[in-house]
Amino acid sequence: MLNYQHIKIPQDGEKIRIVNNRLKVPKNPIIAFIEGDGTGPDIWRASKRVFDAAVEKAFNGKKKISWMEIYAGEKAVALYGNNAWLPDETVEAIKEFSVAIKGPLTTPIGGGIRSLNVSLRQLLDLFACVRPVKYYAGTPSPMKKPQDMNIVIFRENTEDVYSGIEFKSDTEDSNKLIDFINESFNKKIRKPSGIGIKPMSEFGSSRLVKKAIEFARDNKRGSVTLVHKGNIMKFTEGSFKEWGYKVATSEFRELVVTEDELWSQYNGKMPEGKILIKDRIADSMFQQLLLRPSEYEVVATPNLNGDYLSDAAAAQVGGLGIAPGANMSYTTAIFEATHGTAPKYANQDKVNPGSVILSGVMMFNFIGWGKVSRIIEKAMKKTIKSKVVTYDFARLLKNSKEVKCSEFASEIIKNM
Ligand code: NAP
Repeated sequence: MLNYQHIKIPQDGEKIRIVNNRLKVPKNPIIAFIEGDGTGPDIWRASKRVFDAAVEKAFNGKKKISWMEIYAGEKAVALYGNNAWLPDETVEAIKEFSVAIKGPLTTPIGGGIRSLNVSLRQLLDLFACVRPVKYYAGTPSPMKKPQDMNIVIFRENTEDVYSGIEFKSDTEDSNKLIDFINESFNKKIRKPSGIGIKPMSEFGSSRLVKKAIEFARDNKRGSVTLVHKGNIMKFTEGSFKEWGYKVATSEFRELVVTEDELWSQYNGKMPEGKILIKDRIADSMFQQLLLRPSEYEVVATPNLNGDYLSDAAAAQVGGLGIAPGANMSYTTAIFEATHGTAPKYANQDKVNPGSVILSGVMMFNFIGWGKVSRIIEKAMKKTIKSKVVTYDFARLLKNSKEVKCSEFASEIIKNM
C-alpha cells in the first residue's frame, strides 16, 4: 500500500483486488469518493445515506462499504495548496483501490488543466464512458412514450477530436501544418484556419466495441449498434465501423449475428440467444432514437457522437438532471454525476441527487452487488412516481410535493 499525505485509508475496510482482469470484492470493500464542488457536498451526503441504507437492507450488516475520501477540485486546492486541482495521490488511490464515485467538479479556468474529468480519464486510461438511459415512470419528459427508451451508450473516451491536438488559427503552428498538408498531400486548406486532429485507432475502437459486446452478453441485451459518420469520414468513423464488425466477428463469432447475416442466413428472424450487431449513421441515429427507440439496446460510438447522443437521449427521458455515468477501463472505474456543479445552488440542500444515486446503482452492479442496485432503483422509482421530488422535477410536475435534496434521499430510504 502506498503512503498517502492526506488520504486516510479506513481501518475497517479491505481493498478490492483484481485477479485475471476481474474484480474480487471483499465483504467490506474500500470505495473511494470525491464529494465534488458547488452542490457536490449536498448531493454526496444525500447519496451516501441512500447507499449505506440499501447495503444494510440487502445484507443485514453482513456486508458494508468502507468509504475513503479522496480529493479533487476546490477542496483539494484548499487542502494541498499549490493549485493542486488533481493531486497525484488522488489518481494513485483510484488506481490502487479500483473503484471510485464522484460528484461534479469545477472546471479550473486557466492553469493548464482543460478539465479535471478529462484529465482523470486520460491519466487512468478510462477508455469507455458508459451512460445508461432509461425512463423512470413519473419523470417529466417531452416524449409521448419515453418508456420505449432503454439503452446503454458506450462512448470512446480517449481519441477522436477530443484528443486535444488543436492549433489556433493564424499561428506559426497552424500555418506550418496547413503548408505541410497543402504541399505534401495536394490539399487546399484555407489560410488562416484553426486546425484540429481527429485520430482514431483500431486499438481504441476495438476495445470500446468489445466492452459494449461483453456488456450486452453479460446483461442479456439483444443488440449492439455501432454509431458512426463513416459515409463522410471514411478513414476515422468508417474505420471505427469496420473495426467494430471485425472484433465482433473474430472474438465473439459464436455469439453474434451481423445485420447482413440476419437477412442472408436467417431470413430476418433473429436466432435465440444471439446478439445482433448493426450500424447506423450518426445523424440518422438521432432520428431513430426519437422515432423507434425500442429497436436499440446497446450503442458503441466514437467520442464526439457519444457526447451529443448521450445528452440528447437523456433529455428524451427527462433525465438530464438524474442521468448517471461511469468512466471505466478493464479494472478501474469512476462513477459520476453527469451534470455540473450548479454553483448557484451550492449549500442550499436543494438540487436533485438522482444523478449520483443512479451512478451508485451502476457502481453496485459493477462490484457484483446487484441486490443493492435493485433496492435503490425500486425505491427511487417509487419516490418519483409518488411525486415527492426536488425543485427541478417539481416545477414540471403538476400536484407534486417539492422537497429538499436531503429529504428526497430520506424519502427513497423510507421507500426501500
Ligand atoms: P451545471 O452545473 O450542470 O448546471 C446547469 C443547470 O443544470 C443548473 O443551473 C440547473 O438548472 C441544472 N442542474 C445541474 N445539476 C442539477 C441537479 N443536481 N439537480 C437539478 N438541476 C441541476 O452546468 P454549468 O453551470 O454549465 O457548470 C458549472 C460548473 O460545473 C462548471 O465549472 C463546469 O465546468 C462544471 N461541470 C462539471 C461536470 C462534471 O464534473 N462532471 C460536468 C459539467 C460541468 P436550473 O438553473 O434550470 O435550475
